[in-house]
Amino acid sequence: MRVLMIAPPGAGKGTQGARIAAHFGVPHLATGDLLRRHVALRTGLGQTVQQYLDRGSLVPDRLMQDLVRRALAEATAHGGGYVLDGYPRTPAQAWAAYQIASSLGATAQIALHLRVDDDEVVRRLLARSGIEHRSDDTEPVIRRRLALYHEVTEPILQWYDRRGILLSVDGMPRPDQVTEDIIAALRDRRGHHADRPGPVPALLAAA
Ligand code: AMP
Repeated sequence: MRVLMIAPPGAGKGTQGARIAAHFGVPHLATGDLLRRHVALRTGLGQTVQQYLDRGSLVPDRLMQDLVRRALAEATAHGGGYVLDGYPRTPAQAWAAYQIASSLGATAQIALHLRVDDDEVVRRLLARSGIEHRSDDTEPVIRRRLALYHEVTEPILQWYDRRGILLSVDGMPRPDQVTEDIIAALRDRRGHHADRPGPVPALLAAA
C-alpha cells in the first residue's frame, strides 16, 4: 500500500499515519518528524531548517526533495509500500513526489485527505501545545500554518482527484472512528492504481 497523506495541521496526520502504516505493515514517513529529528540532533540540515519550523513556514522545496527522495528510496528498496505523511504540501512538491516515486517504480495509489474545520484545528493544536511543547504550536504560528495550508496545499487535492486517487475522509470524529473509516475505505480501494500523472502544468502555472 502506497499512500500520501494531505491534511491541515492538527487533523491527526501523525496519529492516523502511524496507525495506517502499522495496519498495512509499511513504514510511516512523516516529514515533520524527520525534520524535527534533524533539529534535535543538530545536524547541518537541522540547523538550516529550524527557523522554518519555528515560524511555521515551509522548508524550501529543494531540501524537502532530497529528504523525501532518501526516505522513499529506503522504504521502497525491497518493493515495500509507504505512508508518506506531510509531503507534498505545494504543487511543485506534488510534481516532485510523482517524479521521485515514479523513478523508484512506486507511485502513490492513494492520496488520503483528512477534513477538519479550522476552529477544531486551532482547538486541538492549542491543547497539544500544553503536552508536547512544539515550538510551532502557539496561536499565531498555528494560524500561519493553517493559512499556508489553505493557500498552497489544498489546491493540490484537485490534481489527485483528477488522477482518480483522492480519498477524502472526515477527520472530525474521535480518532478510533477515523482510523476505522480510513482502513475500511483503503480496503475498498486496494488494487486501484492510477499510474499516469495527468495534466499538471495548469496547476503548476497557478502556483
Ligand atoms: P508537521 O509535523 O507535518 O506539522 O510539519 C511541521 C513543520 O515541518 C511544518 O510547519 C514545516 O515547517 C515543516 N515541513 C514538514 N513537511 C514539509 C513539507 N512537505 N514542505 C515544507 N515544509 C515542511
